[in-house]
Amino acid sequence: MRERLLQSPVFQMAAEQFERVADLLELDESIRERCKWPKRLITVTMPVHMDDGRTEVFFGHRVQHHLSRGPVKGGLRFHPAVDLGEVAALAMWMNWKCALMRLPYGGAKGGITCDPRAMSLREQEKLTRRFAAEIFPFIGEEIDIMAPDMGTSEQTMAWILDVYSTHAGRLVPGIVTGKPVELQGSAGRKEATGHGVAFLASRAIDKLGLTNGSASAIVQGFGNVGSYAAETMAWAGIKVKGISDVTGALWNENGIDVCALREFAAANRGVAGFPGAEAIDPEEMLVQPCDVLVPAALERVIHANNAAQLKCRILAEAANGPTTPEADAIIDARGDIFVLPDVLCNAGGVTVSYFEWVQNLQRFHWSEREVLTKLETLLESAFERLLHYAGDRQVSNRTAALALGITEVAEVKKKRGLFP
Ligand code: NAD
Repeated sequence: MRERLLQSPVFQMAAEQFERVADLLELDESIRERCKWPKRLITVTMPVHMDDGRTEVFFGHRVQHHLSRGPVKGGLRFHPAVDLGEVAALAMWMNWKCALMRLPYGGAKGGITCDPRAMSLREQEKLTRRFAAEIFPFIGEEIDIMAPDMGTSEQTMAWILDVYSTHAGRLVPGIVTGKPVELQGSAGRKEATGHGVAFLASRAIDKLGLTNGSASAIVQGFGNVGSYAAETMAWAGIKVKGISDVTGALWNENGIDVCALREFAAANRGVAGFPGAEAIDPEEMLVQPCDVLVPAALERVIHANNAAQLKCRILAEAANGPTTPEADAIIDARGDIFVLPDVLCNAGGVTVSYFEWVQNLQRFHWSEREVLTKLETLLESAFERLLHYAGDRQVSNRTAALALGITEVAEVKKKRGLFP
């Protein structure tokens, strides 16, 4: 299994980041191994009756990285490129993120290899329900709590909640987060990840002595995270000049009307053809001059071939794992880009998921203002701890973020000791 995981380029990347920081922390060999490898790797198959009468068998995975700090928490992804290695890498990053934010969770991630854009809603529902049924013995509101990720949504979470609650014989709202507000979802959860990205981008703009009113941004990905990050940055006065999704990329030097684009993209299943901007090559868009570059789609999009060409001041990593270690080295050597590493930058999602779970367990409801204020307080505190650590030890922001997260997990493992 070790070899199989290490064959995945995404897992290799997560493992390499971990080893580099573990060396810096001089982590003891036994703790290092326990922190690195996932505790549980679960693979299930789901046969689904498709609309055309065929039965298709889908593969799904859930990886629970470690259980030392509480239940595990992490998104569920539907994408054609999903494999066990990618899911394990995403679960490992979730660990460091939850620990960095001091949330009482271990990291997890789930994924089903499928193309939701090519499936009807009915087929997606059957697939989700079957996955929830197969994974039922391994999840629970005190065990493993899922949330939306790429290709999944509030609706996906509602189906999982329904399957779980039906089997349990009672409503179990804390089994998933990022669910509809009507099903005890939290106010502000849908916007939380993008809101957090925009909040931290503004804090970085401030640290660099710039102002929102004179700043510009480029956003790759216009799904949940990218669209709310773009919208919140635009509200804060940042000019969003470039936006792309899987259908194409757009450019408007005077700023794109993000609300109009949201309506257009919903009606046309993508941003391509939006009349309020010109089309641009998606790769070219990433290397246009801007203050804040926000990759909010896939992993490994900032790589050795484009890192030297980036013309941004701030790289706000809304996606998980958007920057390869080779690109990281180039960015470090350049020294002119302020990196908001993924484990901090997109932590707004899991933080408000935590708030949602707490509200569910307490049968309580907080207002959107309360949720977003609490979110900003936790993000601000993690941001300051990260800057302090990076400044003190003269390391990059990514190294500081990972070191803070890994230290928390390693300390808990050391204190708990080893069973039996
Ligand atoms: P989503 O499915 O809502 O949106 C993904 C977007 O990426 C879509 O607009 C899609 O068209 C676009 N995309 C796909 N391939 C692309 C390509 N080749 N070029 C440009 N755009 C492309 O997913 P999401 O929930 O917004 O997640 C995006 C990223 O943020 C993922 O890395 C995810 O793991 C991460 N993330 C999400 C959350 C959350 O709360 N949803 C929280 C933390 C991190």
